[in-house]
Amino acid sequence: GGAEPMLAVRGVKTFYGNIMALKGVDVDVHRGEIVTLIGSNGAGKSTLMMTIFGQPRAREGQIVYDGRDITKMPTHEIAHLKIAQSPEGRRIFPRMTVFENLQMGASVDGFGHFDEDLLKVFDLFPRLKERINQRGGTLSGGEQQMLAIGRALMSRPRLLMLDEPSLGLAPLIVKQIFDAIRELNRAEGLTVFLVEQNAFHALKLAHRGYVLVNGLVTMTGAGRELLERPEVRAAYLEGG
Ligand code: ATP
Repeated sequence: GGAEPMLAVRGVKTFYGNIMALKGVDVDVHRGEIVTLIGSNGAGKSTLMMTIFGQPRAREGQIVYDGRDITKMPTHEIAHLKIAQSPEGRRIFPRMTVFENLQMGASVDGFGHFDEDLLKVFDLFPRLKERINQRGGTLSGGEQQMLAIGRALMSRPRLLMLDEPSLGLAPLIVKQIFDAIRELNRAEGLTVFLVEQNAFHALKLAHRGYVLVNGLVTMTGAGRELLERPEVRAAYLEGG
């Protein structure tokens, strides 16, 4: 049905040993939305993103994607459901060139649209085109982030999950990356789930947002509405 979310996280609990990092998390992402999850260090943001991919697994609760229960599905099968992830710390292949990294992304989708998709990525991030033969490990932090997103896009995802794309980047580069995300969503209707510590940019960009505190969602609402709430401003914006 049209109203059922593309991704539904229901009552998810994730443990590291006997420490409960997610304590019953509910998050919905609808088709065509940009949804952001904000929270401070250690709130469990990366854990949620990784749990959706099954590493680590949810010990309780359910993760449903496109009407299918993926809670126990192997990670490599989840990647074939056209969910792409650009993990925190970027994890591009440092010894491969920009071109080879982008090829690795396309390999998930079988190279059917390689040239067309490459042009799109270069349109979005002209910097990558200039550096096509440079090794990934020698790119700047911002360029590596662009490459990580570009590589994820080469797999033609239906859901793009980004873990802290602004981490450690200069404001101008952050703006370029967020503009690119907005453009992908606007022009192609790409659904985006964005995990961010940079609450200001993330909430401005997102249709909806969730605030994660200590493994629990404490607030949810429209992105710009959350941005106006005094509790959000005090905890995530002022002086931050
Ligand atoms: P940050 O913004 O700092 O990356 P985060 O919100 O992404 O934080 P997580 O990385 O999900 O937070 O961590 C949530 C909690 O789980 C933290 O207390 C962290 O120390 C703990 N944790 C994360 N990974 C592991 C692990 N592999 N083993 C044990 N504890 C872990």
